[in-house]
Amino acid sequence: MASRHIIAVGGSDAGISAALRIRELDPTTEVTVVVADAYPNFSICGIPYYVSGEVTHWANLAHRTAADLAATGMHVLTDTRATRIDVDAHTLDVLGPDGHPDQLAYDAIVVGTGAVSARPPIDGLSGPDALGTDDGVHLLHSMGDTFAVMDSLQQRDPATAVIIGAGYIGLEMAEALTTRGIAVTQIEALPEVLPTVDPELGWLVHGELERNGVEVLTDTAVTGISRTDKGALTVAASRNGEPVSRTVDFVLVVVGVRPDTELATDAGAELGIKGAIAVDDTMRTNLHDVLAAGDCVHTHHRQLGLTWLPLGTTAHKQGRVAGENAIGGDAHFAGSLGTQVVKIFDLVAARTGLREHEVEAAQRGWQPVSTTATPDDHKAYYPGATPIHIRITGDRNTGQLLGAQLIGHRSAEVSKRVDTYATALFHNMTVEALSELDLSYTPPLGSPWDATQMAAQAWVREHQLMSQQRLAR
Ligand SMILES: Cc1cc2nc3c(=O)[nH]c(=O)nc-3n(C[C@H](O)[C@H](O)[C@H](O)COP(=O)(O)OP(=O)(O)OC[C@H]3O[C@@H](n4cnc5c(N)ncnc54)[C@H](O)[C@@H]3O)c2cc1C
Repeated sequence: MASRHIIAVGGSDAGISAALRIRELDPTTEVTVVVADAYPNFSICGIPYYVSGEVTHWANLAHRTAADLAATGMHVLTDTRATRIDVDAHTLDVLGPDGHPDQLAYDAIVVGTGAVSARPPIDGLSGPDALGTDDGVHLLHSMGDTFAVMDSLQQRDPATAVIIGAGYIGLEMAEALTTRGIAVTQIEALPEVLPTVDPELGWLVHGELERNGVEVLTDTAVTGISRTDKGALTVAASRNGEPVSRTVDFVLVVVGVRPDTELATDAGAELGIKGAIAVDDTMRTNLHDVLAAGDCVHTHHRQLGLTWLPLGTTAHKQGRVAGENAIGGDAHFAGSLGTQVVKIFDLVAARTGLREHEVEAAQRGWQPVSTTATPDDHKAYYPGATPIHIRITGDRNTGQLLGAQLIGHRSAEVSKRVDTYATALFHNMTVEALSELDLSYTPPLGSPWDATQMAAQAWVREHQLMSQQRLAR
């Protein structure tokens, strides 16, 4: 009997995770990964550290080498673009490296086409000539974009740069370009940088950028980019209604991504939130034997229901579920909490769950109240203790933990501390119950009550409810 054949379209986190899971569960299933570029299983999350020079060779960004992937038994077709899924015939049309068309038959297909950079409506950024040749204006999402950025940096040797966007990738790139000795101006349309955390915490990141020589312009909407005769670039913007401009050698536009859904929608896939492919929690689309995972699909969120939250962590998990179900399994994606972390120079910012203004969208009747505390990361008598700013949001009525945001020094284990809150959220714990967790302690690294617990106690003290309820009983 011919073995079953599964195709994964996309060779990044979702596509490769699906392929790996299939080969792990059933080595008799033939798996083909179709990848539009030449970089399967590369960690695009590491791009800023290659640009900064901390990762010395682009090849080091590979999660697995071509040989590692081949050793799993999967076939990887690089420089091969999937152009059409015929759902009834169970075939996929592709264009190979030489532009030669081919057709592959499948039993099930996993679409992991990911996301592409959003291109904001800025004069000089759209149109046939924009970004066609290297004029020093770049988007950044793929390895291809990265090589274009690196060529530009090497050829133009810029002294100055504007980064449009101060989300987490914009911030990582501000650090990367600063590390290369480039003077950076960071422009953000919203009132504060890192808009994924509350402005009072974003303000701390703002300070860290300025301490490291980055000029930060918030409340500033870029309207146009124009080229001067000498190859410099003028970025024009409006700041609180007043015109402002900067003339620099290099411009990076990192204002977010949008799901890449064309292949799936052409085949008849329904779209969900924010134009991403609609899937259920088994990663099945509305099309027979077509599954999808990663940045191209909407996200099941444990608190919000459906949203769109493109993250590598989520893409890996969804890909694994899709792979298992492509061969007849019954796996379910347990849902995201939007847990994320970013390092900006010597600071680390992290969040999980919901912020106050996001709670209403969950429609669960929660009444969010928040408290910010600043416990030290470890005992003050041991050298190097630093405060962590921890903002906890919980439900006023039930005391249920709803979210946490943390900012601290990079030595303060912020990323693992946010994971404590993420674990508590996953298990629907109350804020007060965090104090019952048996967490580790030694003076150079923590306190008998961990910082996560001290912040929880501050929330309980301010909102008093659980203790009052107990006393009333
Ligand atoms: C600079 C940067 C830093 C990041 N940092 C983090 C981080 O720290 N933490 C985190 O959780 N996330 C991070 N992310 C986000 C994370 O990288 C993405 O969420 C993740 O890569 C999504 O994986 P994916 O497989 O869904 O899609 P993508 O990574 O977008 O990959 C899509 C794949 O599909 C292929 N493809 C597309 N169309 C076709 C077609 N028609 N035919 C064949 N192949 C096709 C592409 O070539 C690619 O291989 C970062 C992203 C960037 C750009």
